[in-house]
Amino acid sequence: MTIASVDPTTGTVRKEFAAHTPAEVEDRIAAAQTAFRELAGTTFAQRAAWLHRAADLLEAEVDDVAELITAEMGKTLASARYETLKSAAGLRHFADHAERYLEPERPVDPAAVGAADLAVRFEPLGVILAVMPWNYPLWQTIRFAAPALMAGNTGLLKHASNVPQCALYLGELFDRAGFPAGSFPALLIEAKQVAPLLADRRIRAATLTGSVAAGSAVAEAAGRNIKKTVLELGGSDVFLVLPSADLAKAAEAAVTARVQNSGQSCIAAKRYYVHADVYDEFTARFVEGMAATTAGDPRDPATTFGPLATERGRRDVEELVDDAIAKGATVLTGGRTPGGPGFFYPATVLSGLTPDMRLYREECFGPVACVHRVADLDEAIRLANDSDFGLSSSVWTADPDEIERATREIEAGGVFVNGLTASFPGVPFGGTKDSGYGRELSAHGIREFVNVKTVWRA
Ligand code: NDP
Repeated sequence: MTIASVDPTTGTVRKEFAAHTPAEVEDRIAAAQTAFRELAGTTFAQRAAWLHRAADLLEAEVDDVAELITAEMGKTLASARYETLKSAAGLRHFADHAERYLEPERPVDPAAVGAADLAVRFEPLGVILAVMPWNYPLWQTIRFAAPALMAGNTGLLKHASNVPQCALYLGELFDRAGFPAGSFPALLIEAKQVAPLLADRRIRAATLTGSVAAGSAVAEAAGRNIKKTVLELGGSDVFLVLPSADLAKAAEAAVTARVQNSGQSCIAAKRYYVHADVYDEFTARFVEGMAATTAGDPRDPATTFGPLATERGRRDVEELVDDAIAKGATVLTGGRTPGGPGFFYPATVLSGLTPDMRLYREECFGPVACVHRVADLDEAIRLANDSDFGLSSSVWTADPDEIERATREIEAGGVFVNGLTASFPGVPFGGTKDSGYGRELSAHGIREFVNVKTVWRA
């Protein structure tokens, strides 16, 4: 079996790689296990120095890494550079803060539990399997790897099959930075080979970022083997616009939220609920902004966004839009696949969505926005929560009571008020409902893959 790197801008195969054989997979698991034992003898300071060195490498190689990302999944070179530098900053964050995040705790007075001394320690688990997606091929991986390595774990990277060069780069990065050899090797394997790996005693837990179906499959196999998982799955985030909002700012953010990364972001706004009093004005501004974007050559600085990452991904988007149009949705802009090479799809806005349309409920991983008119905040919150997903959300209003209600009542892992939803190394990230469970980043993220050990002494 071969794993191909297809350039989404042209649709041509640029490189092919042979999938790893069972013996090659075994070598990498054994190496990660050996590296885990070696890491056990290292200090936070040592691991932090290596992580800073990995960040140095990313910064020094940013141009080449960005080109690799753009060539494999089609985001603009500018955003690939941004992602690379953000990944370096993420490495530095955990290098600098992990020791504090994992400081032993004394939850109660030792005397209260009949002890002379009491401590809760956070110890590494071992080899963690990381199943990663292609949409932010570096950042999604680094935000697992940085805390995991600082906690003293090692990892195995099963990256998405369309980004094998990014996978191999990441699989060597930490060895090059000084970590014990094999601390985070890449496995070039098919998705169906993942579940059997969870039966391996050396693999202690798994994390997955991707679709609900993939998360469910990995969690099922992990559950069978009594292994913990963290799942960061899809989202269909809401973007609520209320009458007191700064409409110019909201409309500008609404466009960025929907077209960044060609719309292939789990925390992109996808459902826009707009109060009737400002619906016409906001929608006019939003549609104008979406229509003014250019989908084109990701290496051209004038391009807003590049192609979708895969032909299959574009077909999924087309099917969702065509289904909505066939059932009566109105196209306010876009909605038609352009001719020519590459997997391009235009910025699209639809209105008149009804519950019988697939787009009403399903996640659309492309630059397609659905706008809905709502009578008031009650209706906005009710519709926002009428979703299987609960990743993040964005609310636009100047009214303190509305802010209080929205932040309290929206069922999601995050609420961003008057700003774009984003991830930051020091802030927890994750969802509720079908968007997954567990948290990445911050102290919460690093504590997902540790043994919380109680040490009681008489
Ligand atoms: P997938 O969920 O299929 O892929 C994500 C990762 O999971 C890849 O490494 C993939 O490997 C792996 N994988 C897929 N199926 C399984 C399985 N049964 N067992 C173990 N590993 C598996 O995402 P797609 O690329 O197919 O995108 C489909 C949809 O997923 C998107 O439309 C979007 O809704 C969602 N998605 C969400 C992301 C997020 O950031 N939360 C990121 C990417 C996708 P392989 O590539 O070899 O199949």
